[in-house]
Amino acid sequence: MTNTHFDYICIGGGSGGIASANRASRHGKKAAIIEAKAIGGTCVNVGCVPKKAMWFGAQVAEAIHKYSADYGFDVSVNDFSWKKLVESREAYISRIHDSYDRVLGNNGVTLIEGFATFVDNNTVEVNGTKYTADHITIATGGRPIKPPLPGAELGIDSDGFFALNEQPKRVVVVGAGYIAVELAGVLHSLGSETHLLVRREKPLRNFDDVLSDTLTEIMQEEGINLHAHTTVEKIEKQADGSLLVHVNGDRTIEADCLIWAIGREPANDKINIENTDVELDQRGYIKVDKFQNTTAANIYAVGDNIGKVDLTPVAVKAGRLLSERLFNGQTEAHMDYDLIPTVVFSHPTIGTIGLTENEAKEKYGDELTIYNSSFAAMYTAVTQHRQMTKMKLICAGPEQKVVGLHGIGFGMDEILQGFGVAMKMGATKADFDACVAIHPTSGEEFVTM
Ligand code: FAD
Ligand code: NDP
Repeated sequence: MTNTHFDYICIGGGSGGIASANRASRHGKKAAIIEAKAIGGTCVNVGCVPKKAMWFGAQVAEAIHKYSADYGFDVSVNDFSWKKLVESREAYISRIHDSYDRVLGNNGVTLIEGFATFVDNNTVEVNGTKYTADHITIATGGRPIKPPLPGAELGIDSDGFFALNEQPKRVVVVGAGYIAVELAGVLHSLGSETHLLVRREKPLRNFDDVLSDTLTEIMQEEGINLHAHTTVEKIEKQADGSLLVHVNGDRTIEADCLIWAIGREPANDKINIENTDVELDQRGYIKVDKFQNTTAANIYAVGDNIGKVDLTPVAVKAGRLLSERLFNGQTEAHMDYDLIPTVVFSHPTIGTIGLTENEAKEKYGDELTIYNSSFAAMYTAVTQHRQMTKMKLICAGPEQKVVGLHGIGFGMDEILQGFGVAMKMGATKADFDACVAIHPTSGEEFVTM
Protein backbone atom coordinates (compact mmCIF):
# COMPACT_ATOMS: atom_id res chain seq x y z
CA MET A 1 0.00 0.00 0.00
CA THR A 2 1.23 3.50 -0.81
CA ASN A 3 1.16 6.37 1.67
CA THR A 4 -1.84 7.77 -0.12
CA HIS A 5 -3.94 4.61 -0.01
CA PHE A 6 -5.79 3.67 3.17
CA ASP A 7 -8.19 0.96 4.27
CA TYR A 8 -10.32 3.69 5.77
CA ILE A 9 -10.52 7.48 5.56
CA CYS A 10 -12.73 9.67 7.74
CA ILE A 11 -13.37 13.14 6.38
CA GLY A 12 -13.65 15.31 9.46
CA GLY A 13 -11.71 15.03 12.70
CA GLY A 14 -14.63 15.71 15.01
CA SER A 15 -16.53 13.45 17.38
CA GLY A 16 -17.67 10.95 14.73
CA GLY A 17 -14.57 10.82 12.55
CA ILE A 18 -12.07 10.41 15.38
CA ALA A 19 -14.11 7.70 17.11
CA SER A 20 -14.58 5.73 13.92
CA ALA A 21 -10.96 5.97 12.72
CA ASN A 22 -9.56 5.01 16.12
CA ARG A 23 -11.83 1.98 16.29
CA ALA A 24 -10.84 0.93 12.74
CA SER A 25 -7.17 1.14 13.61
CA ARG A 26 -7.73 -0.94 16.72
CA HIS A 27 -8.99 -3.64 14.39
CA GLY A 28 -5.75 -3.48 12.43
CA LYS A 29 -6.84 -1.18 9.63
CA LYS A 30 -4.72 1.54 8.08
CA ALA A 31 -6.85 4.57 8.85
CA ALA A 32 -6.61 8.30 8.22
CA ILE A 33 -8.51 11.36 9.36
CA ILE A 34 -8.68 14.49 7.23
CA GLU A 35 -9.32 17.64 9.25
CA ALA A 36 -9.57 21.14 7.83
CA LYS A 37 -9.50 23.11 11.08
CA ALA A 38 -8.77 21.81 14.57
CA ILE A 39 -8.76 18.20 15.74
CA GLY A 40 -11.76 17.49 17.95
CA GLY A 41 -14.22 19.29 15.68
CA THR A 42 -17.17 21.27 16.95
CA CYS A 43 -17.49 19.58 20.32
CA VAL A 44 -13.94 20.17 21.49
CA ASN A 45 -13.27 23.54 19.90
CA VAL A 46 -16.54 25.46 19.61
CA GLY A 47 -19.16 23.26 21.24
CA CYS A 48 -19.63 21.02 24.27
CA VAL A 49 -16.25 21.53 25.87
CA PRO A 50 -15.81 25.33 25.79
CA LYS A 51 -19.54 25.68 26.50
CA LYS A 52 -19.29 23.50 29.60
CA ALA A 53 -16.22 25.44 30.76
CA MET A 54 -18.19 28.67 30.48
CA TRP A 55 -21.11 26.99 32.24
CA PHE A 56 -18.84 25.96 35.11
CA GLY A 57 -17.64 29.58 35.30
CA ALA A 58 -21.28 30.64 35.55
CA GLN A 59 -21.87 28.08 38.32
CA VAL A 60 -19.00 29.59 40.29
CA ALA A 61 -20.52 33.05 39.82
CA GLU A 62 -23.89 31.83 41.06
CA ALA A 63 -22.32 30.12 44.07
CA ILE A 64 -20.58 33.36 45.01
CA HIS A 65 -23.34 35.84 44.30
CA LYS A 66 -26.49 33.91 45.13
CA TYR A 67 -25.65 31.27 47.67
CA SER A 68 -22.38 31.93 49.51
CA ALA A 69 -23.80 34.46 52.00
CA ASP A 70 -26.44 32.08 53.35
CA TYR A 71 -23.79 29.40 53.68
CA GLY A 72 -21.95 31.76 55.98
CA PHE A 73 -19.32 33.21 53.69
CA ASP A 74 -18.59 36.91 53.71
CA VAL A 75 -17.28 37.16 50.17
CA SER A 76 -16.32 40.29 48.34
CA VAL A 77 -15.43 39.92 44.69
CA ASN A 78 -12.87 42.37 43.40
CA ASP A 79 -13.13 41.49 39.78
CA PHE A 80 -14.26 38.92 37.24
CA SER A 81 -11.90 38.41 34.34
CA TRP A 82 -13.59 36.99 31.24
CA LYS A 83 -10.14 36.88 29.70
CA LYS A 84 -8.85 34.60 32.47
CA LEU A 85 -11.81 32.26 32.13
CA VAL A 86 -11.23 32.08 28.37
CA GLU A 87 -7.50 31.44 28.92
CA SER A 88 -8.20 28.60 31.34
CA ARG A 89 -10.74 27.15 28.91
CA GLU A 90 -8.40 27.33 25.95
CA ALA A 91 -5.49 25.84 27.93
CA TYR A 92 -7.76 22.91 28.77
CA ILE A 93 -8.71 22.53 25.10
CA SER A 94 -5.06 22.61 24.13
CA ARG A 95 -4.45 19.69 26.52
CA ILE A 96 -7.30 17.81 24.84
CA HIS A 97 -5.63 18.44 21.45
CA ASP A 98 -2.39 16.98 22.83
CA SER A 99 -4.21 13.96 24.11
CA TYR A 100 -5.91 13.41 20.74
CA ASP A 101 -2.55 13.65 18.99
CA ARG A 102 -1.15 11.07 21.42
CA VAL A 103 -4.05 8.66 20.99
CA LEU A 104 -4.09 8.96 17.20
CA GLY A 105 -0.33 8.43 17.19
CA ASN A 106 -0.53 5.40 19.46
CA ASN A 107 -3.26 3.92 17.30
CA GLY A 108 -1.31 4.62 14.12
CA VAL A 109 -4.05 6.81 12.64
CA THR A 110 -2.68 9.28 10.09
CA LEU A 111 -3.87 12.88 10.46
CA ILE A 112 -4.02 14.72 7.16
CA GLU A 113 -4.46 18.46 7.59
CA GLY A 114 -6.55 20.26 5.00
CA PHE A 115 -9.94 20.44 3.37
CA ALA A 116 -11.05 17.28 1.54
CA THR A 117 -13.05 17.23 -1.66
CA PHE A 118 -14.25 14.16 -3.51
CA VAL A 119 -12.72 13.23 -6.85
CA ASP A 120 -14.76 10.05 -7.19
CA ASN A 121 -16.31 7.38 -4.97
CA ASN A 122 -12.91 6.15 -3.72
CA THR A 123 -10.75 9.24 -4.01
CA VAL A 124 -10.48 12.51 -2.14
CA GLU A 125 -8.14 15.39 -2.73
CA VAL A 126 -6.46 17.47 -0.02
CA ASN A 127 -4.14 20.36 -0.88
CA GLY A 128 -3.52 18.91 -4.33
CA THR A 129 -2.75 15.36 -3.16
CA LYS A 130 -5.12 12.54 -4.00
CA TYR A 131 -5.88 9.91 -1.37
CA THR A 132 -7.76 6.68 -2.01
CA ALA A 133 -9.48 4.33 0.40
CA ASP A 134 -11.49 1.12 0.39
CA HIS A 135 -13.99 2.76 2.72
CA ILE A 136 -14.71 6.46 3.30
CA THR A 137 -16.82 8.00 6.07
CA ILE A 138 -18.09 11.53 5.72
CA ALA A 139 -18.12 13.10 9.19
CA THR A 140 -18.05 16.75 8.23
CA GLY A 141 -20.49 17.95 10.90
CA GLY A 142 -22.35 21.24 10.63
CA ARG A 143 -22.09 24.97 11.10
CA PRO A 144 -24.25 27.73 12.59
CA ILE A 145 -26.63 29.69 10.39
CA LYS A 146 -27.60 33.36 10.25
CA PRO A 147 -30.88 34.60 8.82
CA PRO A 148 -31.12 36.67 5.62
CA LEU A 149 -31.88 39.98 7.34
CA PRO A 150 -30.48 43.48 6.97
CA GLY A 151 -27.55 43.75 9.34
CA ALA A 152 -27.56 40.03 10.25
CA GLU A 153 -23.79 39.98 9.70
CA LEU A 154 -23.40 42.40 12.63
CA GLY A 155 -24.39 39.54 14.89
CA ILE A 156 -22.10 36.65 15.80
CA ASP A 157 -22.92 32.96 16.17
CA SER A 158 -21.83 30.34 18.70
CA ASP A 159 -18.40 30.14 17.03
CA GLY A 160 -18.15 33.92 17.49
CA PHE A 161 -19.21 33.61 21.13
CA PHE A 162 -16.23 31.39 21.83
CA ALA A 163 -13.97 33.93 20.11
CA LEU A 164 -15.08 36.79 22.38
CA ASN A 165 -12.13 38.22 24.29
CA GLU A 166 -14.28 40.56 26.29
CA GLN A 167 -17.56 40.06 28.06
CA PRO A 168 -20.37 41.94 26.35
CA LYS A 169 -22.14 44.19 28.86
CA ARG A 170 -25.48 43.95 27.05
CA VAL A 171 -26.24 40.99 24.85
CA VAL A 172 -29.13 39.83 22.71
CA VAL A 173 -29.37 36.10 22.07
CA VAL A 174 -31.77 35.09 19.29
CA GLY A 175 -33.09 31.53 19.17
CA ALA A 176 -35.02 29.02 21.20
CA GLY A 177 -32.99 25.82 21.22
CA TYR A 178 -30.15 24.33 23.22
CA ILE A 179 -27.54 26.90 22.25
CA ALA A 180 -29.73 29.95 22.83
CA VAL A 181 -30.73 28.96 26.36
CA GLU A 182 -27.27 27.74 27.28
CA LEU A 183 -25.46 30.88 26.12
CA ALA A 184 -28.12 33.20 27.56
CA GLY A 185 -27.81 31.41 30.92
CA VAL A 186 -24.02 31.65 30.97
CA LEU A 187 -23.96 35.33 29.99
CA HIS A 188 -26.62 36.26 32.52
CA SER A 189 -24.95 34.40 35.38
CA LEU A 190 -21.62 36.01 34.55
CA GLY A 191 -23.25 39.44 34.76
CA SER A 192 -24.19 40.54 31.23
CA GLU A 193 -27.55 42.22 30.74
CA THR A 194 -29.09 39.42 28.71
CA HIS A 195 -32.05 39.50 26.33
CA LEU A 196 -33.30 36.19 24.94
CA LEU A 197 -35.50 36.66 21.88
CA VAL A 198 -37.74 33.76 20.93
CA ARG A 199 -40.04 34.00 17.94
CA ARG A 200 -42.74 31.75 19.45
CA GLU A 201 -44.20 31.50 22.94
CA LYS A 202 -41.22 30.06 24.83
CA PRO A 203 -37.77 28.52 24.49
CA LEU A 204 -37.36 24.75 24.13
CA ARG A 205 -40.92 24.57 22.81
CA ASN A 206 -40.45 20.99 21.60
CA PHE A 207 -39.34 19.70 24.99
CA ASP A 208 -41.88 18.43 27.55
CA ASP A 209 -43.95 21.35 28.85
CA VAL A 210 -42.74 20.83 32.42
CA LEU A 211 -39.23 21.63 31.21
CA SER A 212 -39.93 24.56 28.91
CA ASP A 213 -42.51 26.15 31.23
CA THR A 214 -40.33 25.82 34.32
CA LEU A 215 -37.27 27.11 32.49
CA THR A 216 -39.28 30.09 31.25
CA GLU A 217 -40.46 30.82 34.79
CA ILE A 218 -37.00 30.50 36.32
CA MET A 219 -35.33 32.59 33.60
CA GLN A 220 -37.79 35.37 34.29
CA GLU A 221 -37.36 35.08 38.08
CA GLU A 222 -33.58 35.18 37.72
CA GLY A 223 -33.72 38.33 35.62
CA ILE A 224 -33.05 37.21 32.06
CA ASN A 225 -35.05 39.49 29.76
CA LEU A 226 -37.09 36.89 27.93
CA HIS A 227 -38.91 38.33 24.92
CA ALA A 228 -41.54 35.89 23.63
CA HIS A 229 -43.16 36.25 20.20
CA THR A 230 -40.29 38.47 19.18
CA THR A 231 -38.84 38.56 15.69
CA VAL A 232 -35.74 40.45 14.67
CA GLU A 233 -36.23 42.58 11.56
CA LYS A 234 -32.97 44.38 11.16
CA ILE A 235 -29.82 45.31 13.03
CA GLU A 236 -27.96 48.59 12.81
CA LYS A 237 -24.60 49.66 14.12
CA GLN A 238 -24.72 52.92 16.08
CA ALA A 239 -22.08 55.63 16.18
CA ASP A 240 -20.69 54.34 19.50
CA GLY A 241 -20.30 50.84 18.06
CA SER A 242 -23.28 49.38 19.86
CA LEU A 243 -26.10 47.58 18.05
CA LEU A 244 -29.69 48.65 17.61
CA VAL A 245 -31.87 45.60 17.19
CA HIS A 246 -35.24 46.29 15.54
CA VAL A 247 -37.96 43.81 16.52
CA ASN A 248 -41.66 43.33 15.81
CA GLY A 249 -41.99 46.46 13.69
CA ASP A 250 -42.07 48.99 16.48
CA ARG A 251 -39.48 48.17 19.13
CA THR A 252 -35.73 48.37 19.49
CA ILE A 253 -33.27 46.81 21.88
CA GLU A 254 -29.77 48.22 22.36
CA ALA A 255 -26.93 45.80 22.85
CA ASP A 256 -23.17 45.46 22.54
CA CYS A 257 -23.43 42.03 20.98
CA LEU A 258 -26.04 39.92 19.24
CA ILE A 259 -25.70 36.15 19.06
CA TRP A 260 -27.62 34.13 16.49
CA ALA A 261 -28.54 30.71 17.88
CA ILE A 262 -31.24 29.74 15.43
CA GLY A 263 -29.95 26.36 14.33
CA ARG A 264 -27.25 24.74 12.24
CA GLU A 265 -26.80 23.38 8.74
CA PRO A 266 -24.82 20.39 7.47
CA ALA A 267 -21.34 20.93 6.01
CA ASN A 268 -21.87 18.77 2.94
CA ASP A 269 -22.04 21.47 0.31
CA LYS A 270 -18.37 22.17 -0.44
CA ILE A 271 -16.96 18.67 -0.69
CA ASN A 272 -17.80 18.05 -4.36
CA ILE A 273 -20.29 15.41 -3.34
CA GLU A 274 -21.58 15.50 -6.93
CA ASN A 275 -18.44 13.55 -7.92
CA THR A 276 -19.82 10.58 -5.97
CA ASP A 277 -23.04 8.58 -5.91
CA VAL A 278 -23.90 10.01 -2.49
CA GLU A 279 -27.36 11.57 -2.37
CA LEU A 280 -28.39 14.46 -0.14
CA ASP A 281 -31.91 15.16 1.07
CA GLN A 282 -33.67 18.45 0.36
CA ARG A 283 -32.07 20.11 3.38
CA GLY A 284 -28.57 19.07 2.37
CA TYR A 285 -28.17 16.19 4.84
CA ILE A 286 -26.60 12.94 3.61
CA LYS A 287 -29.12 10.15 3.13
CA VAL A 288 -28.12 7.10 5.15
CA ASP A 289 -29.74 3.82 6.11
CA LYS A 290 -29.67 2.41 9.63
CA PHE A 291 -26.13 1.09 9.03
CA GLN A 292 -24.88 4.61 8.12
CA ASN A 293 -24.54 3.46 4.48
CA THR A 294 -24.98 6.29 1.99
CA THR A 295 -26.35 5.69 -1.49
CA ALA A 296 -22.76 5.12 -2.70
CA ALA A 297 -21.06 1.79 -2.12
CA ASN A 298 -18.31 1.99 0.54
CA ILE A 299 -19.15 5.57 1.52
CA TYR A 300 -20.77 6.14 4.91
CA ALA A 301 -21.79 9.16 6.98
CA VAL A 302 -22.10 9.76 10.71
CA GLY A 303 -22.80 12.72 12.98
CA ASP A 304 -24.36 16.12 12.48
CA ASN A 305 -24.35 15.92 8.68
CA ILE A 306 -27.07 13.26 8.49
CA GLY A 307 -29.87 15.24 10.16
CA LYS A 308 -30.77 12.81 12.93
CA VAL A 309 -29.63 13.65 16.47
CA ASP A 310 -26.89 16.27 16.75
CA LEU A 311 -25.07 15.16 19.87
CA THR A 312 -21.44 14.19 20.38
CA PRO A 313 -22.08 10.78 21.97
CA VAL A 314 -24.40 9.95 19.06
CA ALA A 315 -21.70 10.74 16.48
CA VAL A 316 -19.15 8.81 18.55
CA LYS A 317 -21.35 5.74 18.96
CA ALA A 318 -22.44 5.70 15.32
CA GLY A 319 -18.79 6.02 14.23
CA ARG A 320 -17.59 3.22 16.49
CA LEU A 321 -20.42 0.86 15.57
CA LEU A 322 -19.76 1.50 11.91
CA SER A 323 -16.14 0.43 12.35
CA GLU A 324 -17.23 -2.64 14.32
CA ARG A 325 -19.44 -3.59 11.41
CA LEU A 326 -16.91 -2.86 8.67
CA PHE A 327 -13.74 -4.09 10.33
CA ASN A 328 -14.67 -6.49 13.12
CA GLY A 329 -17.24 -8.77 11.58
CA GLN A 330 -20.18 -7.40 13.59
CA THR A 331 -22.40 -7.44 10.54
CA GLU A 332 -25.54 -6.25 12.33
CA ALA A 333 -23.95 -3.47 14.43
CA HIS A 334 -25.80 -0.20 14.04
CA MET A 335 -26.74 2.87 16.02
CA ASP A 336 -30.03 2.78 17.91
CA TYR A 337 -31.48 6.30 17.77
CA ASP A 338 -34.21 5.48 20.28
CA LEU A 339 -34.11 6.64 23.93
CA ILE A 340 -31.11 8.95 23.74
CA PRO A 341 -30.64 10.84 27.00
CA THR A 342 -29.78 14.51 26.63
CA VAL A 343 -28.99 17.42 28.90
CA VAL A 344 -29.44 21.13 28.30
CA PHE A 345 -26.88 23.08 30.30
CA SER A 346 -29.33 25.79 31.14
CA HIS A 347 -29.61 27.43 34.56
CA PRO A 348 -30.79 25.18 36.12
CA THR A 349 -29.99 22.15 33.99
CA ILE A 350 -32.50 20.03 32.13
CA GLY A 351 -32.30 16.28 31.69
CA THR A 352 -34.63 14.44 29.38
CA ILE A 353 -35.05 11.05 27.75
CA GLY A 354 -37.88 9.43 25.86
CA LEU A 355 -41.28 10.78 24.94
CA THR A 356 -42.74 14.10 25.99
CA GLU A 357 -46.22 13.92 27.50
CA ASN A 358 -47.75 15.10 24.23
CA GLU A 359 -45.82 12.51 22.21
CA ALA A 360 -46.78 9.78 24.70
CA LYS A 361 -50.47 10.76 24.47
CA GLU A 362 -50.30 10.49 20.72
CA LYS A 363 -48.68 7.08 20.92
CA TYR A 364 -50.48 5.50 23.88
CA GLY A 365 -53.72 7.49 24.21
CA ASP A 366 -55.30 6.98 27.63
CA GLU A 367 -52.99 4.18 28.65
CA LEU A 368 -50.68 6.57 30.43
CA THR A 369 -49.86 7.23 34.06
CA ILE A 370 -48.02 10.47 34.72
CA TYR A 371 -46.10 11.15 37.91
CA ASN A 372 -44.96 14.65 38.83
CA SER A 373 -42.76 15.96 41.57
CA SER A 374 -41.94 19.53 42.49
CA PHE A 375 -39.68 20.76 45.29
CA ALA A 376 -36.99 23.30 46.07
CA ALA A 377 -33.54 21.82 45.47
CA MET A 378 -31.90 21.46 48.90
CA TYR A 379 -28.74 23.31 47.85
CA THR A 380 -30.93 26.33 47.24
CA ALA A 381 -33.57 25.62 49.90
CA VAL A 382 -31.21 26.31 52.79
CA THR A 383 -30.65 29.77 51.33
CA GLN A 384 -33.01 32.62 50.62
CA HIS A 385 -32.59 31.96 46.93
CA ARG A 386 -34.88 28.96 46.57
CA GLN A 387 -35.05 27.43 43.13
CA MET A 388 -37.58 24.85 42.03
CA THR A 389 -36.82 21.40 40.73
CA LYS A 390 -39.50 19.65 38.72
CA MET A 391 -39.58 16.08 37.57
CA LYS A 392 -41.94 13.98 35.54
CA LEU A 393 -42.23 10.28 34.79
CA ILE A 394 -44.41 9.14 31.92
CA CYS A 395 -45.45 5.51 32.16
CA ALA A 396 -47.32 3.51 29.54
CA GLY A 397 -49.62 0.54 29.64
CA PRO A 398 -50.79 -1.61 32.55
CA GLU A 399 -47.17 -2.56 33.30
CA GLN A 400 -46.32 1.16 33.50
CA LYS A 401 -43.22 1.01 31.36
CA VAL A 402 -41.29 4.26 31.78
CA VAL A 403 -41.36 5.87 28.34
CA GLY A 404 -40.47 9.43 29.29
CA LEU A 405 -38.37 10.91 32.07
CA HIS A 406 -37.89 14.65 32.39
CA GLY A 407 -36.34 16.87 35.00
CA ILE A 408 -35.23 20.43 35.49
CA GLY A 409 -33.26 21.53 38.49
CA PHE A 410 -29.96 21.57 40.29
CA GLY A 411 -27.82 18.54 39.41
CA MET A 412 -30.13 17.16 36.74
CA ASP A 413 -27.20 16.91 34.33
CA GLU A 414 -25.47 14.34 36.52
CA ILE A 415 -28.64 12.48 37.51
CA LEU A 416 -29.82 11.46 34.08
CA GLN A 417 -27.25 8.95 32.85
CA GLY A 418 -28.17 6.06 35.15
CA PHE A 419 -31.87 6.46 34.49
CA GLY A 420 -31.01 6.28 30.79
CA VAL A 421 -29.56 2.81 31.38
CA ALA A 422 -32.70 1.73 33.24
CA MET A 423 -34.98 2.96 30.48
CA LYS A 424 -32.85 1.37 27.80
CA MET A 425 -33.36 -1.91 29.70
CA GLY A 426 -37.14 -1.38 29.59
CA ALA A 427 -37.65 -0.40 33.23
CA THR A 428 -41.17 -0.07 34.62
CA LYS A 429 -42.42 2.15 37.43
CA ALA A 430 -42.23 -0.93 39.70
CA ASP A 431 -38.53 -1.30 38.85
CA PHE A 432 -37.98 2.33 39.76
CA ASP A 433 -39.89 1.82 43.03
CA ALA A 434 -37.84 -1.29 43.81
CA CYS A 435 -34.64 0.76 43.84
CA VAL A 436 -33.82 2.18 47.28
CA ALA A 437 -33.55 5.95 47.27
CA ILE A 438 -30.29 7.77 47.92
CA HIS A 439 -30.99 10.40 50.52
CA PRO A 440 -30.82 13.38 50.52
CA THR A 441 -30.52 13.91 46.78
CA SER A 442 -32.74 15.25 44.03
CA GLY A 443 -32.40 12.01 42.07
CA GLU A 444 -34.23 10.04 44.77
CA GLU A 445 -37.49 11.69 43.70
CA PHE A 446 -37.48 9.59 40.54
CA VAL A 447 -37.74 6.39 42.64
CA THR A 448 -40.17 7.69 45.25
CA MET A 449 -42.92 9.28 43.15
P1 FAD B 1 -18.04 17.92 14.12
O1 FAD B 1 -17.65 17.72 15.52
O2 FAD B 1 -18.62 19.20 13.71
O3 FAD B 1 -16.72 17.63 13.26
C1 FAD B 1 -16.68 17.82 11.88
C2 FAD B 1 -15.25 18.17 11.52
O4 FAD B 1 -15.11 18.03 10.12
C3 FAD B 1 -14.88 19.61 11.84
O5 FAD B 1 -13.71 19.63 12.64
C4 FAD B 1 -14.62 20.25 10.48
O6 FAD B 1 -13.57 21.19 10.50
C5 FAD B 1 -14.27 19.04 9.65
N1 FAD B 1 -14.53 19.17 8.23
C6 FAD B 1 -15.70 19.56 7.64
N2 FAD B 1 -15.58 19.47 6.30
C7 FAD B 1 -14.33 19.02 6.06
C8 FAD B 1 -13.65 18.71 4.88
N3 FAD B 1 -14.22 18.79 3.69
N4 FAD B 1 -12.37 18.29 4.99
C9 FAD B 1 -11.77 18.15 6.20
N5 FAD B 1 -12.38 18.41 7.34
C10 FAD B 1 -13.67 18.83 7.28
N6 FAD B 1 -23.35 17.89 21.99
C11 FAD B 1 -23.40 17.21 23.16
O7 FAD B 1 -23.56 16.00 23.16
N7 FAD B 1 -23.30 17.88 24.36
C12 FAD B 1 -23.12 19.22 24.43
O8 FAD B 1 -23.03 19.78 25.52
C13 FAD B 1 -23.05 19.95 23.22
N8 FAD B 1 -22.87 21.29 23.22
C14 FAD B 1 -22.77 21.96 22.04
C15 FAD B 1 -22.58 23.33 22.09
C16 FAD B 1 -22.48 24.05 20.91
C17 FAD B 1 -22.27 25.53 20.98
C18 FAD B 1 -22.55 23.37 19.67
C19 FAD B 1 -22.42 24.14 18.38
C20 FAD B 1 -22.75 22.01 19.62
C21 FAD B 1 -22.86 21.28 20.80
N9 FAD B 1 -23.07 19.91 20.80
C22 FAD B 1 -23.17 19.23 21.99
C23 FAD B 1 -23.21 19.16 19.54
C24 FAD B 1 -21.90 18.45 19.17
O9 FAD B 1 -20.84 19.39 19.18
C25 FAD B 1 -22.04 17.83 17.79
O10 FAD B 1 -23.16 16.99 17.76
C26 FAD B 1 -20.80 16.99 17.43
O11 FAD B 1 -19.64 17.77 17.46
C27 FAD B 1 -20.98 16.38 16.04
O12 FAD B 1 -19.84 15.65 15.69
P2 FAD B 1 -19.48 15.41 14.15
O13 FAD B 1 -18.31 14.49 14.16
O14 FAD B 1 -20.68 15.05 13.39
O15 FAD B 1 -19.04 16.84 13.60
P1 NDP C 1 -31.80 23.99 17.65
O1 NDP C 1 -32.24 23.39 16.39
O2 NDP C 1 -31.75 23.17 18.87
O3 NDP C 1 -32.68 25.28 17.99
C1 NDP C 1 -32.80 26.34 17.17
C2 NDP C 1 -34.17 26.95 17.44
O4 NDP C 1 -34.15 28.32 17.10
C3 NDP C 1 -35.26 26.34 16.61
O5 NDP C 1 -35.74 25.19 17.21
C4 NDP C 1 -36.29 27.45 16.52
O6 NDP C 1 -37.19 27.37 17.65
C5 NDP C 1 -35.45 28.71 16.64
N1 NDP C 1 -35.31 29.38 15.35
C6 NDP C 1 -35.09 28.82 14.14
N2 NDP C 1 -35.03 29.75 13.18
C7 NDP C 1 -35.22 30.93 13.78
C8 NDP C 1 -35.25 32.26 13.34
N3 NDP C 1 -35.09 32.56 12.05
N4 NDP C 1 -35.45 33.24 14.25
C9 NDP C 1 -35.61 32.95 15.55
N5 NDP C 1 -35.59 31.71 16.03
C10 NDP C 1 -35.39 30.70 15.16
O7 NDP C 1 -30.39 24.59 17.29
P2 NDP C 1 -29.17 25.03 18.14
O8 NDP C 1 -28.37 25.84 17.19
O9 NDP C 1 -29.56 25.59 19.45
O10 NDP C 1 -28.42 23.67 18.41
C11 NDP C 1 -28.11 22.76 17.37
C12 NDP C 1 -28.02 21.38 17.92
O11 NDP C 1 -26.77 21.18 18.58
C13 NDP C 1 -29.06 21.05 18.98
O12 NDP C 1 -30.29 20.68 18.42
C14 NDP C 1 -28.42 19.93 19.74
O13 NDP C 1 -28.67 18.72 19.09
C15 NDP C 1 -26.94 20.28 19.66
N6 NDP C 1 -26.54 20.91 20.93
C16 NDP C 1 -26.55 20.13 22.05
C17 NDP C 1 -26.24 20.67 23.26
C18 NDP C 1 -26.28 19.80 24.47
O14 NDP C 1 -26.25 18.59 24.32
N7 NDP C 1 -26.35 20.35 25.66
C19 NDP C 1 -25.88 22.07 23.40
C20 NDP C 1 -25.89 22.80 22.16
C21 NDP C 1 -26.21 22.22 20.98
P3 NDP C 1 -38.73 27.84 17.52
O15 NDP C 1 -39.27 27.12 16.34
O16 NDP C 1 -39.33 27.43 18.81
O17 NDP C 1 -38.66 29.32 17.31
